[in-house]
Amino acid sequence: MPEQDNSIDEMYRQYIIRLERKLRELEAERMELRRELRRYKMEVDKLLSPPLIEAVVLSVLPDGRAVVKSSTGPNLVVNVSSYIDPNKLTPGTFVALNQRGSTIVEILPQYEDPYVSAMEVVERPRISFDDIGGLEEQKRELYEAIILPLTKPGLFKELGIEPPKGVLLYGPPGCGKTMLAKAVASMSKATFIRVVGSEFVHKYIGEGARIVREVFRLARKKAPSIVFIDEIDAIAAKRIDIGTSGEREVQRTLMQLLAELDGFDPLGDVKVIAATNRIDILDPAILRPGRFDRLVYVPPPNEKARIEIFRIHTRRMRLADDVDFTQLARLTEGATGADIRAIVIEAGYFALRSNRKIVTMADFLAAIDKVMKRRRRPYADVTEYGEEQVPVTRRNEGAAVMHM
Ligand code: ATP
Repeated sequence: MPEQDNSIDEMYRQYIIRLERKLRELEAERMELRRELRRYKMEVDKLLSPPLIEAVVLSVLPDGRAVVKSSTGPNLVVNVSSYIDPNKLTPGTFVALNQRGSTIVEILPQYEDPYVSAMEVVERPRISFDDIGGLEEQKRELYEAIILPLTKPGLFKELGIEPPKGVLLYGPPGCGKTMLAKAVASMSKATFIRVVGSEFVHKYIGEGARIVREVFRLARKKAPSIVFIDEIDAIAAKRIDIGTSGEREVQRTLMQLLAELDGFDPLGDVKVIAATNRIDILDPAILRPGRFDRLVYVPPPNEKARIEIFRIHTRRMRLADDVDFTQLARLTEGATGADIRAIVIEAGYFALRSNRKIVTMADFLAAIDKVMKRRRRPYADVTEYGEEQVPVTRRNEGAAVMHM
């Protein structure tokens, strides 16, 4: 009998052990399921939570509220959540508004504005004054006004003179304004940032002032740098009246640009060069001392400069002995640097079509004829070749057309 009792005890013991093991397994499974449930709950919360609205701080009001430009369009006056540090709300800060758009609930990490990152930023352009024909006086002025202050600021401090804050290059298109600015950046080992005035008006509608601020922020980050504003007349033309909202927007963009210029140290490491073909329509506010106070005229090249430009653009070409730059320069009276470049390319194509690797004087003469004729009659190609062969690139205002 006791033997039978023992075996029953053993059976129960084994049974309890099995049950305990099972319990532990179930316990572990329950914990795992709980974890999973929490994960799914969070996922559902995320899916159900309303999206926040992205905005950029424009200014902070004395009462602690902020004026922001929301990504949905309008400028809004909003409250600031108590847990947000008001010192971090500087103009240009990216923030998130709650769904009703009434309160700043989060400061977003600062990222580079996609508009700004799409701009032409060349860390170190590879152009020097030697690549620019003529314009000796202009090169000297730019050397003194920009390169020297950037590379040897001490010299100016010792002499007690202030270099200009901004230089305005003006003159007809295609005569080397952009090239000069790039060469200045390269020679002063500065980053070259190019923005185009008309893009503020057409591309960045409603964002002009902010983009100006962002551009200068980028320039300070990448200093030493040169901000090159091409077609500045698009944002700095004299205004007859500012009735429409578009004109007010342009005005705001200009005001922001002036504010940036005014806030600058002339011996700092950010310089501004602007360019225009229409100095006659510029707002005098932009030319006041302390702003673009050095005006540099970039004229069309004279005969001597044209010889140099021909020489520069044919540097990598194999030329026949009969090519005479002096005569080419004489034949291209009134041509711009861009025209001469187009002539050189065209001459290369004439040689190519005749299966030659050497470019002859006859190729140049034919190219001059073609480019200069088109310069006088910008749309000549349409009738000459028919619709399909309209030039791919056409420089503005009837300047040279290049077949690439
Ligand atoms: P735009 O007002 O149309 O912007 P721009 O005055 O800035 O014109 P650039 O863009 O500098 O003109 O010049 C256009 C092209 O013409 C240059 O890429 C260069 O190939 C040629 N070019 C113009 N001027 C010169 C020059 N003085 N020496 C050599 N090349 C020149």
